[in-house]
Amino acid sequence: MEVLKKPAFNVSIIKWHKKFGRHDLPWQKSKDPYHVWVSEIMLQQTQVVTVISYYQKFITKFKTIKALAEASEDDVLSMWSGLGFYSRARNLHAASIMIMKENSGHFPDNFQDMIRLPGIGRSTAGAILAFCFNKPYPILDGNVKRVLSRVYGITTPINNSRTEKKLWLLSEKNLPKKNIDIYTQAIMDFGATLCIPKRPICNICPITQTCVAYVNGLTTQIPKKNPVKKNEIKKTHFYIYEYQKQVFLVKNRSGVWNGLWLPPNEEIKLKNKQIIKYGHRQSVFSHYKLVFEYTFIKALAKPEIKLKGLWINWQDIQDIGLPAPIKKLLIELSP
Ligand code: SF4
Repeated sequence: MEVLKKPAFNVSIIKWHKKFGRHDLPWQKSKDPYHVWVSEIMLQQTQVVTVISYYQKFITKFKTIKALAEASEDDVLSMWSGLGFYSRARNLHAASIMIMKENSGHFPDNFQDMIRLPGIGRSTAGAILAFCFNKPYPILDGNVKRVLSRVYGITTPINNSRTEKKLWLLSEKNLPKKNIDIYTQAIMDFGATLCIPKRPICNICPITQTCVAYVNGLTTQIPKKNPVKKNEIKKTHFYIYEYQKQVFLVKNRSGVWNGLWLPPNEEIKLKNKQIIKYGHRQSVFSHYKLVFEYTFIKALAKPEIKLKGLWINWQDIQDIGLPAPIKKLLIELSP
């Protein structure tokens, strides 16, 4: 469906961005692909306002790809604690090690080498190539999908592969001949601040006349999505042992909290103990809800624990990789 007459979509978006786009985000101050890579990974599934402080802390702690590669997984996860989707942090770390080994610490400057790195897909590679190398590669994150599907009046669900293919073609077709970096930032900002999910702010949009969804009164019905499966509920129980101002944790090796420290799921037989508290909490992930109960137990004599783990001082729990809801709970329970 050909919609856009003059001025072209990309020209209008760039013009809009000059006046209304975001120009002062911390990662925009740099053309270093390492910085842009970290910001792009953090921005997946996370809003800009949340990312800013995490990005600044992360880049201050791991100044270079080398520093990130040499850090322990624990250190990396602890800097990510609270941002969620921890596989992003594990992939960043693994990719930095790969870049050190295979490319002497230089971030690749071409698409093929970029998408070989763990955690970098077509859209992230496109963004890094556009921002840092000014190369004409398209992106297709959630914002761009929404904008293009409205502008072109795409009524098929955006989470099906045929629609996605179509959107990639449209994204590619709209790339400008120059200012690719500005255009890429512009379409991201346009989707994040104006053509927003629930109530797009069409009354101040510069492209209403060429937007099929707007012209046909479909802005609240596009983008369409296939219904996602009803969220599953998973249940677990954590046993929080304290002995002499220390708490016992084990390294988790599966699921969304893989690589993070957690209180054990197993009850340990202790002769001399005092139950301080029972309780329950819940955490909502994209595909399921985790309901966890906990028992807080004070060991009155040195416990013999066969599990491989670590006793850590209460005040040091801020410094290790813990999932945000567990960290919050431990902080509340700490003396
Ligand atoms: S007119 Fe509305 S729906 Fe269309 S692009 Fe502009 S903000 Fe989005």
